[in-house]
Amino acid sequence: MNILADAAKYDVSCASSGSKRKNENKGLGNASNGICHSYTEDGRCVSLLKILLTNHCIFDCAYCVSRKNNDIKRAAFTVQEVVDLTINFYRRNYIEGLFLSSGIFKDADYTMERLVRVAKKLRTEHNFNGYIHLKSIPGASDELMREAGLYADRLSVNLEMPTEAGLKLLAPDKNRQDMINPMSFLKKEIIQRTEEKKLFKNAPMFAPAGQSTQVIIGATPESDQQVLQSANYFYKNFNLKRVYYSGYVPVLIDKRLPALNTAVPMVRENRLYQADWLMRFYGFHVNEIVNQQQPLLDLDIDPKLGWAIRNMQAFPVDINKADLQMILRVPGIGLLSAQKIVSARKFAKLSWEQLKKIGVAINRARYFIICKSNEFERRDLTGNNIKQFILAESKSKYIKNTQTQLNLF
Ligand code: SF4
Repeated sequence: MNILADAAKYDVSCASSGSKRKNENKGLGNASNGICHSYTEDGRCVSLLKILLTNHCIFDCAYCVSRKNNDIKRAAFTVQEVVDLTINFYRRNYIEGLFLSSGIFKDADYTMERLVRVAKKLRTEHNFNGYIHLKSIPGASDELMREAGLYADRLSVNLEMPTEAGLKLLAPDKNRQDMINPMSFLKKEIIQRTEEKKLFKNAPMFAPAGQSTQVIIGATPESDQQVLQSANYFYKNFNLKRVYYSGYVPVLIDKRLPALNTAVPMVRENRLYQADWLMRFYGFHVNEIVNQQQPLLDLDIDPKLGWAIRNMQAFPVDINKADLQMILRVPGIGLLSAQKIVSARKFAKLSWEQLKKIGVAINRARYFIICKSNEFERRDLTGNNIKQFILAESKSKYIKNTQTQLNLF
């Protein structure tokens, strides 16, 4: 359990697995390695048992602690052991579901078949209705992917590197097509099953939480432009629910990899998540965030502010007149606040005070908007002036933490 929960911690595609809270004073519960939190389709936060079926692997991916040439202790669960652990932990209220990944035992299908058997036993023999996230093994057959979708809530295939060239360099045993095939199959199957479900109420569910993927950043020299364009491609072509960006943690010595003392790119990881959010929810095209002229995200400021100061001609935005899409582009105004603004201004023109109450971060937004109040804060400031003002005021934790890794696991 120690070995296989520890090895699973490098997979971030089931969100924050960070707590090290100990059970003190005979309290209830103990959040440690092996339990992580994830969000279901309807927004609930669930705690998951996060483990590998095995850390044996026939592949030798340079960035992975489980690679075959790494001299570490190996272990493997049987299918029944994972089922029993899940049921026992569930009954004790430690977890609400399972996140199961694996090294590759013998070949893709041999391993995938075991992962599917775990999910199938849980669902059919134990009537387990908790959340199940299965990692799909690249190269697994369509039949196994179909079966996996019948029992798992979410399936994910890790892309690992943002580009094919990066993958070739660090994971020569893998190829991109073996990742694309299961993704493509899942996309078609999810669409078809969703249609069936609309017609026949009793049609079985198929991966109701969809599919996701993970890319490692900082292990290879891809720019943010390459990372985000790749993410955009996979969102668009495979209907992914999420792309997870995992800053490379240097744990292995290999001349193809960054040195062991290289800092984990936590700020970059955070900026990529912000940019990803802009593409998915704020109507930004990937090329507006990063492009040939601007291939790297500015680590000092969030990408929306970055876009705004490069496009000062689009401001000031009149908060009482502009359409929702433009309000969403104002730094300091989030999705909910933008929607509230559009509803509230039907009744009265909005002032700074009201915008504050709505939840707008005035310290940022004030440089980019006009409202009922007379004061126009932007005055004749240039984009660069504004950036400096905002940075000087910022108490962002990321500035303090640029040299240290956040405690994620
Ligand atoms: S296939 Fe997966 S488990 Fe095996 S070495 Fe590569 S990344 Fe690690």
